Amino acid sequence: MANGTDYYAVLGVPSSATADEIKKQYRRLAKQYHPDANQNDPKAADRFKEISEAYNVLGDAEKRKQYDDMRKLGAFGGFPSGFGGGARAQRPGAGRAQPGGASGAAYSTEFDIGGIGGLGDLFSSMFGGAGGRARSKGPERGQSIEQTVEVPFRVAAAGGKVPVEIEVNEECTSCRGNGAAPGAQVKPCGECSGRGVISFGHGSFAVNRPCPVCMGRGSIPSERCPTCRGSGEMRARRKVLITVPPGAESGTKVRLRGQGGKGAAGGQPGDLVITFAVQTDRFYRRDGLDLIATVPINIAQATLGSRVSVKTLDGKKVALRIPAGTSAGKRFRIAGQGIEKEGQKGDLFVEITITVPETLSEAQEKAMRDFAEAGGLKF
Ligand SMILES: [Zn+2]
Ligand SMILES: [Zn+2]
Repeated sequence: MANGTDYYAVLGVPSSATADEIKKQYRRLAKQYHPDANQNDPKAADRFKEISEAYNVLGDAEKRKQYDDMRKLGAFGGFPSGFGGGARAQRPGAGRAQPGGASGAAYSTEFDIGGIGGLGDLFSSMFGGAGGRARSKGPERGQSIEQTVEVPFRVAAAGGKVPVEIEVNEECTSCRGNGAAPGAQVKPCGECSGRGVISFGHGSFAVNRPCPVCMGRGSIPSERCPTCRGSGEMRARRKVLITVPPGAESGTKVRLRGQGGKGAAGGQPGDLVITFAVQTDRFYRRDGLDLIATVPINIAQATLGSRVSVKTLDGKKVALRIPAGTSAGKRFRIAGQGIEKEGQKGDLFVEITITVPETLSEAQEKAMRDFAEAGGLKF
């Protein structure tokens, strides 16, 4: 029978049942499912075996006590205790036993011990503090890393790459993860006899947990690795080149599968999740897929007309004719030179600002006064 079977459910008694109640219920079920009385029902034999096994534990005061202790630690699902994770492991539909109820299959509660999140969490909180993370023997997914990255406006608009430096837990390069100092002797761990796991509980309901002494490695070095102090891990900075899709906006996220922390015991590495924060640009701003470029011209250009050169996003120069009598704020459209995203293309709008000279030469001042007086302008 699998580890973690809920014997109370098998017998269909509450965990508060007295020894007498358990005995009575066992006798009733044993009689009902006895193979001699159910020769045409092959399932009855399995059910009978389950019942016998459950009673073998619950019918014995000493064994029952050990079993109850295990249950309290959350090793068996569906038990109302502080260790919430255990309940998750109970297979949906694994119903509570009803005395004399349906076939045996309905009674079984199965647990995948390796996959019980609550149990792993429980062990790591119990033993994780002692000099490093207690490693379970099963594959463990690496840590996922989330990071916000500043992206220059033009890179976000046109697409490109930005370098990112992330901090991850990686295998210690000095000891390659085994936690031993160079040249140290490595002996099998006495605590777990080199197995890396310790059985917790007894008999058919034993549960394995990572050995807290050797942190699940099964061996202990005569001297710990000085770089990682024996944990086998170290913080490492890693440079990653992030591809920015064209038209990326602040808040856009990209997920780089497998670029996060390294997995343990053959587990998948975690992901790297990047959130873009687009910087402002002194020349461009954005309106959807359109770009707005602010172009300053002087007062003579604005009044008499001119030609200016405007840089597009891809760095090319486009000549733009400014007609005479252009006021500040006037926009000129350069079609198709905006942001290109998913087959759509915005336009580039050139917005005019007029710069006014702060100092004038004597000749300029006279010319300006003459200009104003000739036009009847007040100043
Ligand atoms: Zn090391
Ligand atoms: Zn050990």
